[in-house]
Amino acid sequence: MTIVVEKFGGSSVGTVEKINRVANRVLRTKAEGYDVVVVLSAMEGETNRLINLAKQVNEYPSERELDMAMSTGEQVSIALFSMAILREGYVAKSYTGMQIPIRTNEMHGKARVKSVGTQKILKELSSGTIVVVAGFQGVSSDGEITTLGRGGSDTTAVALAAALDAKECRIYTDVDGVMTTDPRVVPEARCLKQVTAEEMLELSSSGAKVLQIRAMEFAHKYEVPVRVLSSYHDVPGTLITSEESSMEQPKITGIAYNVNEAKLTIKRVQDRPGIASKVFSPIADAHINVDMIIQNVGSDNNTDLTFTVDRSEYRKSMQIVRELLHELGAEDVIGANDIAKISLVGVGMRSHTGIAKTMFTTLANEGINIQMISTSEIKISVIVDEKYVELGVRSLHEAFGLSQKVEPMRESAPQRALEEWRF
Ligand code: ASP
Ligand code: MG
Repeated sequence: MTIVVEKFGGSSVGTVEKINRVANRVLRTKAEGYDVVVVLSAMEGETNRLINLAKQVNEYPSERELDMAMSTGEQVSIALFSMAILREGYVAKSYTGMQIPIRTNEMHGKARVKSVGTQKILKELSSGTIVVVAGFQGVSSDGEITTLGRGGSDTTAVALAAALDAKECRIYTDVDGVMTTDPRVVPEARCLKQVTAEEMLELSSSGAKVLQIRAMEFAHKYEVPVRVLSSYHDVPGTLITSEESSMEQPKITGIAYNVNEAKLTIKRVQDRPGIASKVFSPIADAHINVDMIIQNVGSDNNTDLTFTVDRSEYRKSMQIVRELLHELGAEDVIGANDIAKISLVGVGMRSHTGIAKTMFTTLANEGINIQMISTSEIKISVIVDEKYVELGVRSLHEAFGLSQKVEPMRESAPQRALEEWRF
């Protein structure tokens, strides 16, 4: 049994016409001899519509009831899709997350997948049925319907692929694959043939919107081969692999940016043990994610402590810190929410030097001031004024040769293998 999981997002199943088109695509995979598990999102705009309805009834809807409402979107698309397959004379059966079951923890709205039941799916597949699973939803141990967070159908697909030991998890989208950067900002952005799960994880968490971050964590952890490809064009898309190719790596694989950033600076905090813990414990307790942190000790043993959070958490973070000022012996807290983060990502950083230099020089040449810097083994991020983000991304894309017509990407996947996946 060779299983392929195929996931289609909301824009690919947004209309009845599109559902028919997607059904044909799945039947093609079936005709190639694979056992196919399909994961669908709700029809385009449907999840937002359901959330809006909920908010019209109650500004702060209960998370349990919101999950109950939101999970209906996927139930509609899987049923319609299965009807389309049946109309073509093939067998398909739709299942909700609870029916599979896709077991999660009890965190409504952002539940984590704990395990996936495979028995029912394997049985159906062995009799030739196309199994159609609702994305984005699961069931907690006490039988409650949960959802996995916006974009969660990607995670459903990767989790199913991992549990079923699928040959490949194909994520169909409205772009041709993973791009070197956002093509709306840089029209010369290219589609990458291959990218490592580690790079993808960094790109997703730095603002690239292709896949849900959780899905990449899953793919990375369970070494699921994921392919991102177009619902509309016959292109091989981008293969996300768990291994690095032994071929020469380009310096940089991609550039991500995130304009949903805000920063806070606590002025003149005392430089003594326990201060960071005093600041970041209440922030963590409020479930606020801190991204970058910079601390710098001045000559008088006082330090400025700057950190970044998601823009939506800016006001809440400010409020928390303001209440701490006295206890911290700090002077004041100031902040800005018109900042953006630009990140260069690439495993090639491990073997190439001078990347930071090129990055900083390129930005300097454009007169862009760098407010904060952070680095990891395969990523360099800078915080800049939001109004320079597009200029910054464009000039870096050019400076690192990502716009070149010649594909400088590694070619480790044999062409034959790529052909095999072409439609
Ligand atoms: N329908 C859900 C959403 O809009 C899940 C998904 O599309 O992946 O976020
Ligand atoms: Mg999506």
